[in-house]
Amino acid sequence: MKITNIKITPIAIPDVPLANTKGVHQGVFLRAIIEMETDNGHVGLGEAYGAKRTLAGLRKLAPDLIGLDPMDLHDLRRRAEASLKNDGGVNAPTALADHKVMDVAYSAFEIACLDIQGKHFGCPMYDLLGGAVRKTIPFSAYLFFKFKKLPQYPGPDIYGEVMTPDALVDQARDLVTTHGFKSLKLKGGVLDPDQEIETMLKLRDAFPDHGLRIDPMGAWTVPTAKRVCDALGDTLEYLEDPVKGMDAMAELSALIDIPLATNLVVVEFEQIFEAVRKDAVQIILSDHHYWRGARGAMHLGEMCRASNLGVSMHSNSHLGISLAAMCHVAAATPNLTYDCDTHYPWCKHEIVKGGRRVFKNGCLDVPEGDGLGVELDTDAVAELHDLYNSAQVQDRDDTDEMLKYIPDYVRVVPRW
Ligand SMILES: [Mg+2]
Repeated sequence: MKITNIKITPIAIPDVPLANTKGVHQGVFLRAIIEMETDNGHVGLGEAYGAKRTLAGLRKLAPDLIGLDPMDLHDLRRRAEASLKNDGGVNAPTALADHKVMDVAYSAFEIACLDIQGKHFGCPMYDLLGGAVRKTIPFSAYLFFKFKKLPQYPGPDIYGEVMTPDALVDQARDLVTTHGFKSLKLKGGVLDPDQEIETMLKLRDAFPDHGLRIDPMGAWTVPTAKRVCDALGDTLEYLEDPVKGMDAMAELSALIDIPLATNLVVVEFEQIFEAVRKDAVQIILSDHHYWRGARGAMHLGEMCRASNLGVSMHSNSHLGISLAAMCHVAAATPNLTYDCDTHYPWCKHEIVKGGRRVFKNGCLDVPEGDGLGVELDTDAVAELHDLYNSAQVQDRDDTDEMLKYIPDYVRVVPRW
């Protein structure tokens, strides 16, 4: 079996102004859709970030994959390293973590290869990853403070302005009622820490049996984070990236009993050793988009088991190909015991046939078709590709976008 053609289509999807400590989401989010064809008629799908550095990496590597056997993922890795070793990271300089173009491009094509493998052998992707230890995947409600959507942006707003603790609790109530989520994660680092403490305590009152998390993305100093932990006591199942950098995480970790999770200080295998040595984190967030694909996410799970670390799952804004891959990874990771993050409810569009997936009791069933188990809706992709061409947005920069809402905004991390 040989790869004969790879099509990469950038798309833009209407987004809403979700706030975080470094800024706010733009009017659209960007994805790249991959269609990988083989000489025996299979088409493997992939979904990657769509901002300019990722897109350039995908487009640079794709021609080098013609003739590759999609079974040979070591050869895929060799070709990715040969093509992209010196191509740097994917994120804007204002982002709080970066991922190598090489790893992100490899990950995207690895998923397409696994989709082909599943179609070739007639089995779901999770079977290629060792089998499903669970077939119902629980997700958490991803709560955001947000601005009202600017009128010039495409698509509807969702929930309007949410900038107070009470409005945030209303948002949570609606997400739980609509989707049945059993855990709640707040993107923190937006309001003053005292207001975010108030928010979490109000969430605890409103949802006494739900797992609660907050992710301020390094917005707090160690003393501020300690104060937040003292106020919230054992309200949290974990605290995600409260302070910036490995050493600050280690310093805080020594002061508190709440487990610390991260998708900022441990984003590559090599960083796990330092994190364990310093006891800087107790949970690592998996993400097949940069942890070297679905098989890399399996390896991360095994390294976490061996290191006595927990595993949870990270999310960026995404559509149904990524969602399917996330479900397969979650199905095949025995120690992924926390509800997975997802931005999915913050979008109304879909690019796979059958339309939007519907959560039941906060869960999705892992797709049972061959490979990823999803088919591309080419009309939907064409429509969002047109939006990509007209939206004039080719990179993600939340900090630059924030100036449209707060003209004198200055990115400061940590802020409090
Ligand atoms: Mg995070």
